[in-house]
Amino acid sequence: EHFVLSETVREDFPFLRAAEPLVYLDNAATTQKPQAVLDALIDYYTRSNSNVGRGYYRLSMESTERYEHARAVVQRAIGARHPEEVIFTRSTTDATNLVVDTLGRQLVRAGDEVVVTGMEHNSNLLPWRRLCEETGARLVVVPISPQGRVDTAAFAAVLGPRTRLAAVAHVSNVLGTVNPVQELIAEAHRHGVIVMVDGAQAVPHRPVNVAELEADFYCFSGHKVYGPMGIGVLYGRRDLLSELPPYQVGGGTVKGVTFTEPVEYVPLPNRLEAGTPHVAGAVALAAAFEYLEGLGWEAVRQHDDTLVRTTLDAVADLEGVHVVGDPGSDPCGIVSLSFEGLHPYDVGGHLDRHGIAVRCGVHCASTFLDDLGLVGTVRISFGVYNTPAEIERLREVLSTVEPGFWSLEQPTTRFL
Ligand code: PMP
Repeated sequence: EHFVLSETVREDFPFLRAAEPLVYLDNAATTQKPQAVLDALIDYYTRSNSNVGRGYYRLSMESTERYEHARAVVQRAIGARHPEEVIFTRSTTDATNLVVDTLGRQLVRAGDEVVVTGMEHNSNLLPWRRLCEETGARLVVVPISPQGRVDTAAFAAVLGPRTRLAAVAHVSNVLGTVNPVQELIAEAHRHGVIVMVDGAQAVPHRPVNVAELEADFYCFSGHKVYGPMGIGVLYGRRDLLSELPPYQVGGGTVKGVTFTEPVEYVPLPNRLEAGTPHVAGAVALAAAFEYLEGLGWEAVRQHDDTLVRTTLDAVADLEGVHVVGDPGSDPCGIVSLSFEGLHPYDVGGHLDRHGIAVRCGVHCASTFLDDLGLVGTVRISFGVYNTPAEIERLREVLSTVEPGFWSLEQPTTRFL
């Protein structure tokens, strides 16, 4: 097999050296960080640390510049038209809650409908579910195709005159299948429906262009794209974002305050970033995107593609092992496996004892696993540093797995 990214990529990641001989295949949960990202964090705290947007002194102004430069890097990386369309959040979860608690509460009334797909992560399901419960709106679920995808026709079929918003995963965190989000968005727009795309599993694997997708909102987490934990991004179309009421209120969001007069808020993006932001996180996230651009997105994609295909070949002749969904048709960094007569926890435990880290269970999407009729899957997920040798090791260890402690008849005892 020809691999596009060379073994030298591994040398950029100190974690891999420190954790040796661990085979880390849980990149959909979180990725390891290249030295460039660690350096960006240290450098920010060593040379620039001071609060942003507030200080009337050189250092604080430089810090503000670094923060805003990071925003511009992210803007370019995701193809947003304007820097103020990039709102720094804590995470994907924080971004979905932001949209639900602002736009959702403004727009959704009793009797309205909110559409989610049958494959959403709890982070893009629970905020919408709670909104519906609190407003008296109806939560409508798009069924998932046998290939593990949201088909445009199935999506179009649930859109109606009362549909206000739709929440859609770009890539399934359970199966790694890619949804036709551009088509879904176009379909939603024909019905006047605003779409929130959860791109947490797409952004690490392929160049995403939010303008091309015509996304209304698009969010992801820094830590899954080789950046730090605690920083995330909400992209929003400028006209939509500027209509949002403030999410949290506090320092940095207002022009002037009295105890009684109406509050005047500052413009985007700061209006939606109350309090001291994670400046070092933003700076390091920008470094992560620059690192990926340095590797080259085409190379990242081809590498990813090859890892997925190699895995599909490697498990093809393992008895009783099934690939869930159809990741081979458009690989995106994830292969999910189920094992006849074996609980995924027993497989995960066996792999762990042999030095291989994977996620097993329902992947924060128990509604999807219930629909698939599975107590869980064993999810293999890749990063830029994974190698064919690691997949060969995975195959070897999988071929020796045996029934263990967990019973398939006890699906309720599960790590969500
Ligand atoms: N959505 C998807 C598709 C995810 O894979 C994840 C992380 N597993 C999340 C949302 C939540 O991300 P975070 O925990 O970083 O907020």
